[in-house]
Amino acid sequence: MELRGTRSSAARGRTAPSAVEAPEPQPVVTGAFDIPLTMPFRNTRARRGLLVRGPAGWGEWSPFDGYGPELTARWWQATAEAATRPWPPPVRDEVEVNAIVPAVGPERAHRIVRESGCTTVKVKVGEGDDRARVEAVRDALGPSGRVRIDVNAAWDLDTAVRRLRELAAYDLEYVEQPVAQLRDFPRLRAKVDVPLAADEAVRLAPDPLHIPGIAAADVVILKVQPLGGVQRCLDVAEAAGRPAVVSSAVETSVGLAAGLALAAALPDLAGACGLGTLSLLAGDVTADPLRPVGGRLRVRRPVPDPALLDRWAAAPAVAERLHDRLGAARAAAEL
Ligand SMILES: [Mg+2]
Repeated sequence: MELRGTRSSAARGRTAPSAVEAPEPQPVVTGAFDIPLTMPFRNTRARRGLLVRGPAGWGEWSPFDGYGPELTARWWQATAEAATRPWPPPVRDEVEVNAIVPAVGPERAHRIVRESGCTTVKVKVGEGDDRARVEAVRDALGPSGRVRIDVNAAWDLDTAVRRLRELAAYDLEYVEQPVAQLRDFPRLRAKVDVPLAADEAVRLAPDPLHIPGIAAADVVILKVQPLGGVQRCLDVAEAAGRPAVVSSAVETSVGLAAGLALAAALPDLAGACGLGTLSLLAGDVTADPLRPVGGRLRVRRPVPDPALLDRWAAAPAVAERLHDRLGAARAAAEL
C-alpha cells in the first residue's frame, strides 16, 4: 500500500532517505491568528491557527480545538504541502460555491439564501424544525436551484428513511452523511430516492485511500486540511472512484485557497463547493479575501497582509498553545 505524499510512508519504506534525497525545504511558522466567528460553530466562537510560509507560498494550520496529534498531523501535512509544493494544475478557473444555512428558523433561512447570490444551498438538518427550514430554502431558491442537506451522521437508519421520505418532496441534490456508517448506505438507498454523500466516513476513515463500502456513496466530500493536503485529496477521490465536492474547514483565505486549488484541479467535480465560508469569520488575513461573487470564486491564491496579521494576532497564551499543539502534530506526522 502506497501512501503518496506522506512522510510516514517514506520513512517506513526506506532506511536512509536523507542519503539519497535532497532535504525538503522547511516551512517557516509565522503568526498566530485568532478571528471571532460571526456565529457559534462546533462549540467555539473563534477560529485560531498558525500561518506558515515556504518556497511554494503560504499555508494555514488551524485544527479544531480538542483534536489530538494523530488528527492534527494530517492537518500539518496539508499546511506543509501548501508551503513547500506547487499545487496540481487547474482544469477550471472558477468554482461555484454553495450557500450555507445553519440550524436557523425558516425566515432567517429564506433571507440567507436570498442574500447569498448562490443557486446551490447546503442546509443543516437534524436539529430544530428542519422541514420548515428546507421548505424555506426551496421557496427562496425556486425550482431550478439545488438544495443539499447535511445530517452530520445524526440519524439512525430508520430515522433517515422516515425523514428523507419527507424531505425528498423538496427535490434534494443529495444528503450528506445521513447515517454514520457506510454499511447502512445501500439499505438506505433501497428505500429512498435521494443521492447519498459521504463526509465524516471519508474524513475520519483510518485509511481514506481504502474505505470499505465507499462505492455505496454517490458523492465524496473532500476537506484539504483534515485529509492531509490537496494531492492527498485528489488521491482519495481517485481511490474512491466517486465524483467529489470540496468543503472548507472554515479557514481564512489562506486555508480556503488550498480548497480552491483542489476544486480547480479535480477532474470530476460534483457540483458547487462549500468554500464560501469566509462570511462565517469576522475578518480575514488578506486584503484580497476569497469571497464569492455571484456564487462563484475565481481561482487564485491571496497572500496575507501584514496589517491584517497584526489586527488578528492571537494573544501570547493562545499562540503558545497553538505552537505546543503544532509541535505534537509535527512529531506525530514524522512517525
Ligand atoms: Mg458534512
